[in-house]
Amino acid sequence: TSNVMTRWRHSVAGCHTSTVFQTNQAIPCVDQVKSSEHLCKSQKLMLELGLIAPSSPGCLHLLPGAVRALEKLCRLIDHEMRAIGGRKIDMPSLAVAQLWRASGRWEAMGQELFRFKDRHDTDYCLAPTHEEVVTSLVASQGTMTYKSLPLRLYQITKKFRDEMKPRFGLLRGKEFYMKDMYSFDASEESAKETYEAVCEAYANLFQKLKLTYVKVLGTTGNIGGSVSHEFHLPASIGEDALYLCQKCSYQANAEVLDAGVVNPACPSCGDSLRSTPGIEVGHTFLLGTKYSSTFGASYLNRHGKPNLLQMGCFGLGVSRILAAAVEVLSTNSELRWPTSIAPYQVCVIPPKAGSKEAHASLMAQHLYQQLSSLPHLNGDVLLDDRGHLTIGRRLQEATRLGFPHVVICGKKSLEAIPLIEVHRTYYDEPPKFMTHRELFDY
Ligand code: ATP
Ligand code: MG
Ligand code: MG
Ligand code: MG
Repeated sequence: TSNVMTRWRHSVAGCHTSTVFQTNQAIPCVDQVKSSEHLCKSQKLMLELGLIAPSSPGCLHLLPGAVRALEKLCRLIDHEMRAIGGRKIDMPSLAVAQLWRASGRWEAMGQELFRFKDRHDTDYCLAPTHEEVVTSLVASQGTMTYKSLPLRLYQITKKFRDEMKPRFGLLRGKEFYMKDMYSFDASEESAKETYEAVCEAYANLFQKLKLTYVKVLGTTGNIGGSVSHEFHLPASIGEDALYLCQKCSYQANAEVLDAGVVNPACPSCGDSLRSTPGIEVGHTFLLGTKYSSTFGASYLNRHGKPNLLQMGCFGLGVSRILAAAVEVLSTNSELRWPTSIAPYQVCVIPPKAGSKEAHASLMAQHLYQQLSSLPHLNGDVLLDDRGHLTIGRRLQEATRLGFPHVVICGKKSLEAIPLIEVHRTYYDEPPKFMTHRELFDY
């Protein structure tokens, strides 16, 4: 494969900006990674197509296309979190050891915790999660009354974990984006309502992304609490084994069964269990008062008496979802996104320079400008004006890059009633030929 530096233009408020969508680093980077680990499909495609680039093991650069997709995913997540009363905050990633010692997790986290000292010899960690930090924050705000509950705080920030085996690109990194919500309720019942509301928000999110997910019982591990569920995308490279009952609704991570039962029968109905590999994309926990008791986070009940807050915590692996979606939707050679988070929606291809239909190129320019200004496309349009390449070659590249739509001004654009060629690349169907008017209605 040759190194390709592809510069495509996209319009921002009427001015043209040159965007590097594919980098000429792509191929050397693949080789560099290949030597040290086995690549999975999404990682390979994302490296080759210039979406990510390796920095050091477990640490990746997100390139412009990946950042566009990540930002769209964050907006969808924000929407779901706000719909259940989530209020967005942003907590420091540098966390003092004192908090982690108080919860007992400074030791319990073992080698996964990135520990370091500042110049005053104070111990810190790079937060892998924020239960301690958020609970001490809430406790520091003074005792609230039952009237201000439930309190549902969330953030989308980088988390840091010294993973034993960082691999598969964004699927398992040493630093990654997580959406983490922490909830504070007056009673166990109301904490359960919050728990259900968040699970429903996760279900809505995966439905919007059109991703098939499986919700299973999970173990509570070192986070603690009484109830936990995991959300998985079934995929052959998934590192978790999920057991699904063939008869009833029982579904659990193998870790849950390994903890107690060795018999592969369903603990609920006794029927046989089917096993499938999954990529964990979300995890929800009902925490009780584990952290609120440690940090003295309480509220005043209706009789004016202080009570400990009932907590829950809810993680979504934001950068992992990005890669997991690519993993389950793509073919070996063509990258596919959930349409709602594709970096761009439309690629406009003008004719090859010097070809018979070359003067349709002005039409392509206009079309590009008009599509770019459509409010619902919100600038999600690229013009592939590499006129030295054939239309066929550029169509092939746009399809491989995962543009959901490709719009071509070719031979038929010169007919008495000019026709534009429209490809819906995610569907196995022939192109449609449309008039200008039909395209805008479509
Ligand atoms: P795993 O079992 O894959 O190591 P986890 O159970 O340790 O994940 P949680 O503590 O439940 O992870 O964190 C919440 C979410 O953060 C996970 O469901 C996952 O989607 C994401 N996540 C966890 N570790 C990573 C990582 N190293 N890289 C990318 N995303 C991650
Ligand atoms: Mg882990
Ligand atoms: Mg896990
Ligand atoms: Mg987990």
